[in-house]
Amino acid sequence: MLLKMIGKLNPHRIQITRYSVRFFASNIKENHEKVNFNSISAAYGYKSNRELFRGWFVFKLCSYSSLVDRLSQLLPISRKILGQQLFEYIIRSTLYGHFVAGTNKAELKPIVDRLRKQNVKLILDYSMESDVPSNKQEKFESSVLHHSNENTYNDNMLKSIKNVQTAAELFGSSAITAVKMTAFVSPDILQKLNRILEAEHQSSTKNTILETASNTSIISKGELEELEHLITRMNRIVQEVKKHNGRIFIDAEQSYFQTAIHKFVLELQEQYNRDSLTVYNTYQCYRKTTLNLLRQDLIRSKNNNFHIGIKLVRGAYMDQERQLAIAMKSIDPIHPNFLTTTECYHRAFIEALKHAKEKNTTKTHVIVASHNEDTVQFATKTMDAMHVKRGDGLVSFATLFGMCDYLTFPLAAVGYDAFKLAPYGPISSLLPYLIRRAQENRAIFAKAEKDRRLHYKALKERI
Ligand SMILES: Cc1cc2nc3c(=O)[nH]c(=O)nc-3n(C[C@H](O)[C@H](O)[C@H](O)COP(=O)(O)OP(=O)(O)OC[C@H]3O[C@@H](n4cnc5c(N)ncnc54)[C@H](O)[C@@H]3O)c2cc1C
Repeated sequence: MLLKMIGKLNPHRIQITRYSVRFFASNIKENHEKVNFNSISAAYGYKSNRELFRGWFVFKLCSYSSLVDRLSQLLPISRKILGQQLFEYIIRSTLYGHFVAGTNKAELKPIVDRLRKQNVKLILDYSMESDVPSNKQEKFESSVLHHSNENTYNDNMLKSIKNVQTAAELFGSSAITAVKMTAFVSPDILQKLNRILEAEHQSSTKNTILETASNTSIISKGELEELEHLITRMNRIVQEVKKHNGRIFIDAEQSYFQTAIHKFVLELQEQYNRDSLTVYNTYQCYRKTTLNLLRQDLIRSKNNNFHIGIKLVRGAYMDQERQLAIAMKSIDPIHPNFLTTTECYHRAFIEALKHAKEKNTTKTHVIVASHNEDTVQFATKTMDAMHVKRGDGLVSFATLFGMCDYLTFPLAAVGYDAFKLAPYGPISSLLPYLIRRAQENRAIFAKAEKDRRLHYKALKERI
C-alpha cells in the first residue's frame, strides 16, 4: 500500500504536503529493523577514553555562544600571545583533534583502520576553498588567496590530485574524495559567470559553459582563459579519480557561485559518468529551486545516458544567503523555514530513490548527507517501503568527522553504507573550517547536546 502511495505521488508536483512526509515517516513498519541511535557502544566503542573526554570538552566549549561568536577574533589573538607552538598544541588537543582526521596520510591511516573495523569509511577532503572578500569567515587567514592567482589554483589542483592518490592508497577502488570548486578559480570570475548563466538559464539555451562565456562581451579574454584553466584543472582531477576507479563529490557553495558550479558538475558527469559513476553533484535542499533542478537532472541523465551521483544536503550558508538577499533587496533563495527545507529534502530523496529503482541503463546513487536523526530515519523507512535493501548500492549515509557518530556507527553496524566526511591538512588552513564547525554545533544545540551527553555517558561507563 505504501509503495502504491509513493507511486501515485506526481513527481512533477512542486508543492508537497506535510502529510506525505509525515505519512512515510510514521507508517512504515514492515521490514524496518530499528537502528539504535542511542547506542553508546556502537557510536563510541572505537574511541579511547582520552578521545571521549576531548569530544565531551569540545561540545561543552561549543555550547558557550559568547565564546563561539568571538572565535574568529580570539584565535589570531591567542596565536600572537601564546606563540605558534603552544597555540597549535592547544588547537590540536581540542577543536582540530576532534573535527579533523589529521595532517597527512600517516596520521589518517590508524583512523582509517579503526573505522574500517566498524564498517565506516572516510570521504577524504583536503580542505581548500575561497570566497569573495565580503565573507566575514574568510577574512581569517585561508589557504587560498581571494584574488586571481593562477599559481595558487594550480597548487590547489596538485593538492587535490595528491588527495585522490592518498584516498586510493587507503581505500582502493572504494575511495571517495570531496572538493570545492572555488579552490581552483578566482571567486570574482566564478561569480560573474554565475550571473551570466542565471540570465541564460531563463532563455533556456543549450550551450556549454565555455560557449556561453565565449559568446558574451561581459567576460574578458583574460577571464575566459582563466575559465579554460578551471576546466583543465577539474578535468585533471577527475581523470586522476577515474585512473584509480574512485569517486569524487563536488560540494555546493553559495548561491552566487552555485548555478555555475552545478552546471560545471553536470558537464563533468556527462563526460565521465558514462561507464562508471565517478562524479557526484550536491543538491542544497534549503534552496527553493533545488527540487526542480534535481528533476531536470534526473531526466537529463536518462536521456543523455550518464550515471548520476546525488549528494543531498540541507545547506551550509543559510545566514549568509539571507543577509545577502536583504542587502541586495533580492528574493531570498532559501525556503522560508526549517519544515519546508525538510519537506524538500524528503521529497528529493523519494524522487531520487524512485529514479534509482527504475530499470534504466544508467545508475543512480543517493547520498543522505545529514546530521538530522529524523531525516536519516525517514530515509531508512522509505528504503524499506520501496523495498530497497541496505546492500543494494542505491543509498549511502554520511556525516561530518567529529559529529553525530551516534547516527553513522549504528547505521554501519546493521549494514547500511556509512561514511564520515573527513577534512585533513595543516592546522593553519583548517582554522576557518573549525570556526564553522564550532558555530554549527552552537546553532544546532539539541544535536550537539546529544553528542555531548552521549560522550559523557560513554566516559562514565568506562571509568
Ligand atoms: C557529508 C556532508 C557533506 C556536506 N556537503 C555540503 C555541501 O557540499 N554544501 C553545503 O552547503 N552543505 C554541505 N553539508 C552541510 C549540511 O548542509 C549541513 O550539515 C547542514 O547545514 C545541516 O543540515 P542537516 O541535514 O545536518 O540537519 P540539521 O542539522 O538538523 O539542520 C539544522 C540546520 O538547518 C538549518 N536550516 C536549513 N534550512 C532552513 C530554513 N529554511 N529555515 C531555517 N533553518 C534552516 C538550520 O539553521 C539548522 O542549522 C554537508 C554535510 C555533510 C554531512
